[in-house]
Amino acid sequence: MKIHEYQAKELFRQYGIPAPDGAVATTADEAVAIATKMGLPVVIKAQVHVGGRGKAGGVKVVTEKDQVKSVAEKILALTIKDLPVRKVLVTPAVVIKKEVYLSILIDRGARAIVFIGCADGGVEIEETAKTHPEKILRHEVTATECAKLDKAKLLPFASKLFDDPKQAAAAADMMVKMGKLFMEKDASLVEINPLIVDDKGEVIALDGKMMIDDNALFRHDELIGYRDMDSEDQDELDAKDAGLSFIRLDGTIGCMVNGAGLAMATMDTIKHFGGSPANFLDVGGSSDPKKVVIAFKMILKDPGIKVILVNIFGGITRCDDIAKGILASMQEFNVPVPIIIRLVGTNEKEGRALLEGTALTTVTSLEEGAVKAAKIGSLT
Ligand code: ADP
Ligand code: MG
Repeated sequence: MKIHEYQAKELFRQYGIPAPDGAVATTADEAVAIATKMGLPVVIKAQVHVGGRGKAGGVKVVTEKDQVKSVAEKILALTIKDLPVRKVLVTPAVVIKKEVYLSILIDRGARAIVFIGCADGGVEIEETAKTHPEKILRHEVTATECAKLDKAKLLPFASKLFDDPKQAAAAADMMVKMGKLFMEKDASLVEINPLIVDDKGEVIALDGKMMIDDNALFRHDELIGYRDMDSEDQDELDAKDAGLSFIRLDGTIGCMVNGAGLAMATMDTIKHFGGSPANFLDVGGSSDPKKVVIAFKMILKDPGIKVILVNIFGGITRCDDIAKGILASMQEFNVPVPIIIRLVGTNEKEGRALLEGTALTTVTSLEEGAVKAAKIGSLT
C-alpha cells in the first residue's frame, strides 16, 4: 500500500523526524482557509501516489494571498501520470539551502535492508542516478538491528551526505528513526526527497513517501484509514474481494493457476520457454466455478492478452469445478484468444470429460502448455 506525502509526514512526526506542518484540502476554498490561517508564503502540493509531482506542475509556491485560490484550483484540476489530483497539501514554504536524497528500503537483489543516499537530492535524482551512479551511496543494515540502529555507526554514511558535522549528526539521528519507523510499520520503503537544510541550518524532511507491505496490514489498524481506494488498481481490489490474488504484469500470456507457488512456477516456466506472463493469478484452493468466471473476467480486461494458460493441480481444488468455471466463462464472455488447459489431480477425468468436444486445447504437462502458450504469446 502506498500512502500520501501528508500521511507519511504524520508518521515522520510521530517518530520524531522533523517535517513541516500542513493541512489537506479537497477544494480551493479550503486551501485558502488553511493558507490564511498558516500565513504566506505556502506551498501547495498535489497528493497523488506518484513521484515527479514538482515537474508535472503539482507543487507550487504561493507568495500572494489572492493567488492561493487559483493555484489550488489549477492543481486540483491536474491529472499526474494518469492519477487525478483530489487533494492538496498546504504547507509553509521553506527556504532551501541544500537538498539531499535519503531512503530506506528492501533490496531484494542484495537480500538486505539498505539506506540509499545522495548528497545531490531533489527532483533530478533519477537523472543523477543515471548520469552519476557513483553519487548514489548505500549502507546495508540487518533486519535485527534495523529497529534499534546505532547512531554512531550511521555517522560515516550521514557525513557523506552532509559536510557540516551538526547536520550529519542530525541526519544520522533521523536514520535511526527511519529504521524504527520502517520496521514497526512493516514498510518496504521510507523515502525522503528532498531532505533539506533550511536557512537556520536545520535538517528537515520536505517530502515523504512510504510503502507498507499489504500482507502486514492486518496488524496495523492504525494505518487502514490511510488506504486511498481512488489510487488503487480496481482489478486488484476486486480480486481481493473475490478471494483471489491477482497482480497485473506486462506480458501477453494470461495465467490462471491454483496456489501461489504453482503460479510462480508457471510464470517461471512460461519465461523459460520465451513467453511473458500478463498476470499473476492464484485462484486459491477449493475454487468454485464462480471464482473461475471472475478470474477470466480479470484476465480478459487486459487488451494485450494473446493466449490464456490454465494450470490446475487438483488437490482440494477439483478439476471438474474448474472445467465448469471455464465453460461458464466461455458462455458469459466472448473469449477472443485461445485457451490452453492443463488439469491434473482430483477429478481430472471428470474435468477432461467436460471439456471434450470444445475448442479448448488441453495438454498433459505444464511444459507442453508453456511451450504452446509462449509460441502464441510471441506472435505479433
Ligand atoms: P515531487 O518529489 O513529487 O516532485 P516534492 O515534494 O519533492 O515533490 O517537491 C518538489 C520540489 O519542490 C522539492 O524538491 C523542493 O525543491 C520544492 N518544495 C517542496 N516542498 C517545499 C516547501 N514546503 N517549501 C519550499 N520548497 C518546496
Ligand atoms: Mg520529492
